[in-house]
Amino acid sequence: MGDRTAADGELLRVTDLKKHFPVHSGFWNRVTGHVRAVDGVSFTVERGETLGLVGESGCGKTTLGRSIVRGIAPTSGSIEFRTRSDEVIDLAALSRNELRAYRQDFQMIFQDPYSSLDPRMSVYDIIAEPLKIHRYGTQEEIEERVKYLASVVGLKIEHLKRYPHAFSGGQRQRIGVARALATNPALIVADEPVSALDVSIQAQVLNLLKELQSEFNLTYLFVAHDLSVVEYICDRVAVMYLGTIVELAPTRSLFAVPKHPYTEALLSAVPKPHPGGAGTRVRLPGEVPSPANPPSGCRFHTRCPYARDICRRQTPDLAEVEPGRWVACHFARELELAGVRSVGVTHYSLPAEASPPESP
Ligand code: SF4
Repeated sequence: MGDRTAADGELLRVTDLKKHFPVHSGFWNRVTGHVRAVDGVSFTVERGETLGLVGESGCGKTTLGRSIVRGIAPTSGSIEFRTRSDEVIDLAALSRNELRAYRQDFQMIFQDPYSSLDPRMSVYDIIAEPLKIHRYGTQEEIEERVKYLASVVGLKIEHLKRYPHAFSGGQRQRIGVARALATNPALIVADEPVSALDVSIQAQVLNLLKELQSEFNLTYLFVAHDLSVVEYICDRVAVMYLGTIVELAPTRSLFAVPKHPYTEALLSAVPKPHPGGAGTRVRLPGEVPSPANPPSGCRFHTRCPYARDICRRQTPDLAEVEPGRWVACHFARELELAGVRSVGVTHYSLPAEASPPESP
């Protein structure tokens, strides 16, 4: 997606990012191959936007999210990020030591609020920890900030003395969100932040994330497999298959008129609110191939109902087929694929005040 460097308005520009994990085997434990979890991914994220990363499990979306915040080191490629002082830095090129100066600008919210919080720390200490690491201020200033953060995520002051085990799943995710917000980051990578929660609690956490986005001018990279969550919260969506992006488009048009056969198959698998009233499910043959040995040409050709000869031989580029619509398919301009009007998000559209937070 271009050779430019990060433009005005762009918070993030990822170019040809790869993360390959070595595979060891044999008596000498030699490296005998690589799992190409992320294999040449490029995209941009505008400030204040929510970009969803979707795909089946094992497609590389979580590895991509973690590589961007340098939870894991990428193998190659660049991650240009605009800092709060308006400097563009390549996160992929920084050493662990150099990264420290910028860590406060990007944070992560994890999938499992049960295991992502240290059970031996009080809620106060969990939220205060990043502030202490980044030398936010005096003890009083830190205390004031922790109380403020607790209030914006819907926790009470008395909750701060308690420990994570005393809270329900939704409340623990609120603690995780308060901690992520502590250093006033510009970018939050949210890795399946509601998938471990009940649907009614998912609505509360999603609405909270939306409110915080406008209040704190946050940009989200939102990793998810639930398309109804993606439809509700994302401005644009990147669909991943076997470590690559196969389609990237504004959410509404991607859902209504998919341009990649894999997107069509994902949308067709969503349970329909009115049985019999929607399109048929596209059943893909076979399993997802191994990312250690991806198919030649188009990686999707072994399962694609529209594959032709060229698909086995030639890898399609991720090309802009319409303004703002990027598709990696030789036939993106001619295929007429079935979309969905909505995958059904009514249960997320409750205003936050109509869904009060649970009590611990
Ligand atoms: Fe299917 Fe060919 Fe398009 Fe790949 S390039 S998605 S195999 S039609």
